[in-house]
Amino acid sequence: MRSQQEHQVQGYDADKSLMRRWLSAPRYWGHALVDLIYPPSCLMCGAGVGAEGGLCAACWRDVPFIEKPYCQRLGTPFPFDHGGELVSPQAIAHPPVFAQARAVARYEGPARALVHGLKYSDRHDLVQPMAAWMARAGTELLSQSDLLVPVPLHWTRLFRRRFNQAALLAEAIAAQSGHEVAARALKRVKRTRPQFGLSRNERAHNLQGAFRPDPAFPVLGRSVLLIDDVFTTGATANAAAARLLRAGAASVSLLTFACVAQAP
Ligand SMILES: [Zn+2]
Repeated sequence: MRSQQEHQVQGYDADKSLMRRWLSAPRYWGHALVDLIYPPSCLMCGAGVGAEGGLCAACWRDVPFIEKPYCQRLGTPFPFDHGGELVSPQAIAHPPVFAQARAVARYEGPARALVHGLKYSDRHDLVQPMAAWMARAGTELLSQSDLLVPVPLHWTRLFRRRFNQAALLAEAIAAQSGHEVAARALKRVKRTRPQFGLSRNERAHNLQGAFRPDPAFPVLGRSVLLIDDVFTTGATANAAAARLLRAGAASVSLLTFACVAQAP
C-alpha cells in the first residue's frame, strides 16, 4: 500500500515535471520560430551568426578594440608598447578634469559605423550589445562608481533626434551592472556649436556654462561615471565633470563606446 502511495507520488512528480516541460515548450518553440523567421544576424553586415546581438567573425576581426597598453588617464591606446609607460603625453600636457576614461574601441571602421547606426539610423537593437561591451571595458570604472550619468543633449537636439544615445547606453549598462542611473542629474542648458575645427581654448569657451546639475538629483559625495557614445577631444566630458565636481561629486570618470586616438 505504502509502496503504491510512493509510486503514485513519484508518478505525480513525473507528471508534474512532464507538464512543466510542456508548459515551457511554447517558449522554446517561440524562440525557435522567431529564429527561423528572423535568423540571428551580424549587427554589422547581416551575415548569419550563432546568437542575436553579435558580430560575425569577419566583422569582429575589424573592430579596433582597445587593449593594453593604454593611457591610464585617457584610456587612449599607445601606438606601440613603450614598456611600462602609464600616462600619455597628452594627459601630462593637458590633464583631464575627470579622473579616468575608458572606451571599448577606437572610433574607426566598424566601431564608428556602430556609433553612427545607433545615433543617426535609429538602430536601437545596437544598444544592448554596445552597452555589454562598454560594461566589460569599464569593469574597473564601474566598480569604483555608484552613479551613472549620461552626457545630456540640449533639448533642441533631443527634440530633433527623439532620443539621447548616451542615456540609452547608460540605462542598458545600469540594467546589466545594477548601478543607479540618473539620466537627468545633469542638464545641457546651452546650445553649443559643433566643436569640429575649434582650438582647445575655443572648445572650452564654447562649452562654458553648457551644463547645469539638477538639484532634484543630488550628486553630493557620489562617485559618478559619465556615459557617452564617443570621446573625441574630451572638452565635453571635462565641462560636464567640472560641473559635477563643483556640485559636490566625490569623483567623476568617463566610459564611452569609442574614443578618438589623439595625435601625440
Ligand atoms: Zn559581419
